[in-house]
Parts: sequence; structure tokens; C-alpha cells
Amino acid sequence: MQLRDRVAVVSGAASGIGRAIAELYAREGAAVAVADLDGAKAAAAATAIEAAGGRALGLAMDVTDEAAVDDGMREIERTLGPVDVMVANAGIQIVHPIEDFPYKEFRRVVDIHLGGSFLLTKAAVRQMYPRRRGSLIYMGSVHSHEASPLKSAYVAAKHAVLGLARVMAKEGGPHGVRSNVICPGFVRTPLVEKQIPEQARDLGISEEEVVSRVMLGRTVDGEFTTLDDVAAVALFLAAFPSAALTGQSITASHGWYTA
Ligand code: NAD
Repeated sequence: MQLRDRVAVVSGAASGIGRAIAELYAREGAAVAVADLDGAKAAAAATAIEAAGGRALGLAMDVTDEAAVDDGMREIERTLGPVDVMVANAGIQIVHPIEDFPYKEFRRVVDIHLGGSFLLTKAAVRQMYPRRRGSLIYMGSVHSHEASPLKSAYVAAKHAVLGLARVMAKEGGPHGVRSNVICPGFVRTPLVEKQIPEQARDLGISEEEVVSRVMLGRTVDGEFTTLDDVAAVALFLAAFPSAALTGQSITASHGWYTA
């Protein structure tokens, strides 16, 4: 029970990595706000957590809408208590050559990853600073450090999220708030299932080739990095054993890109 008596909010927690983090946090004793654009799926994920014996609140929240983020964070404070852990995880991926990448789509990707992280941070620290504690966790990517063709919006946004997290290590430090980034490699979620055929098409290679390039560093069982692998890092960054870490980015990719 590493998060007993803690309150956490996880954005994009109705699916994939966010949901795995919310479930693990709840198993470790935290009261968890499951925030997602898809309110019905967020409510269902919260119900599942409660059915498993945890404490959860499902919230419809568009992280690009400042009023929605502020309202949601106030509801969390009223219902569960002030937030100790914020995981800015909501995200989308669009793979497209830059010459006809619609600017509107570029802005949507940047708005969700960077704007959403900014708005959640702004609302979360208002609850953390008065209590002089808190852990801000940002979902970066191997693309916070390495570029990839065809992912201009995503790579730029993920680099920017790393920058925001580093600022918050300095700005939040004097208030007792830590700030770190998780940089996963490929994890099988709806986001990635959509991306593999797009990358295969754009790179002119087979889907199997895309997957085999990704799995270069994985020696254990030939699978991608798993939801549990990423959630374990998110638990570490939320809990006491990582108390000395701030301004750090942890790559969890089984060696993809470092291989
Ligand atoms: P996913 O598609 O399974 O989940 C993303 C969730 O974000 C969805 O539930 C979606 O409804 C929600 N969302 C989208 N826009 C939103 C908005 N405006 N407001 C609130 N919620 C919104 O994807 P995932 O793979 O679990 O991705 C989660 C995070 O992990 C993203 O930031 C992604 O970039 C990052 N990531 C994923 C991988 C991977 O391989 N899957 C690798 C590195 C980083």
C-alpha cells in the first residue's frame, strides 16, 4: 500500500496506459480520479476500480478546456481530497508527412499533450503548494528524446512536455513538489494499433517490419513494453522511494532507441 491516504488524478485514464496506472494506484491504496474525454468510459473504469475494492471517481474532462480542467480538479478536491499525485497522460497520435499535415491537426496534438499538461499542472499545484507536497508525472515518450519521421506534431509535443516537466522541477521544488517524466516505448494500446498500419504505409514497409524494428531491444518474451511495465514506473515516481528524484525522465522501452 505505497499510496495509502494519497489522492491521484490520471488524465486519459479510461484506456491504455492511463487506465493501468489508475488501477495500480488504487490497488496501492490511493483514491483515484479517472479523468478522460470519454466520460462514459471514465465512469466505467472508476466503477471497475471500486468493484475491485478501490476508491475512484470517474470524470468527463477535456484536458484542452481550462474551465473543464478547473471544474474537474475542484470536484476531485471536494470528493476525494486535495491531489497529491497528478499524471498528465491523455494523448493522441497522428502520423503524417509534413507537407500536407493539416495545421489544425498539428495544433490538436500539441494542445492535448502540451496544453493539457500545462492546464492540469496549473490546477494541481494550487492544491499541492499549500500542503507543500506533490508529485507531478508527465507521460512523455521515447519521442521526448528521439525524433521519428512523419510524427512532427507528436515528437515536438513530447519534447515540449519534457521541457515543461523540467520547469516544474525548478518552479515546484521550493514548494515541495517534484516533477518527472516517463518515456515509454511501444505499448500495445488503441493509440499504437492505429499507428502501426499508418507507419507501415508511410515508410513503405510491412506491419511486421515495423513491429520487428520496435522489438529490437526486447529480449525477454518478444512482446512490446507492457502496460504493467509503465504503470510500475508511474508508481515508483508517485511513491516515497523516489523522493530524491525531480526533473528526471525515465525511459521505459526495453531498449528501443537506446539499443
Ligand atoms: P490510449 O488511446 O489507449 O488512451 C489515451 C486516452 O486519452 C483515451 O482514453 C482518450 O479518450 C484520452 N484523451 C484523448 N484526448 C483527450 C482529451 N482532450 N482530454 C482528456 N482525455 C483525452 O493511448 P495510450 O497509448 O494509453 O496513451 C497514453 C499516453 O501514453 C499518451 O500520452 C501517449 O502519447 C503516451 N505514450 C504511449 C505509448 C504507446 O506505445 N502506447 C508510447 C509512448 C507514450
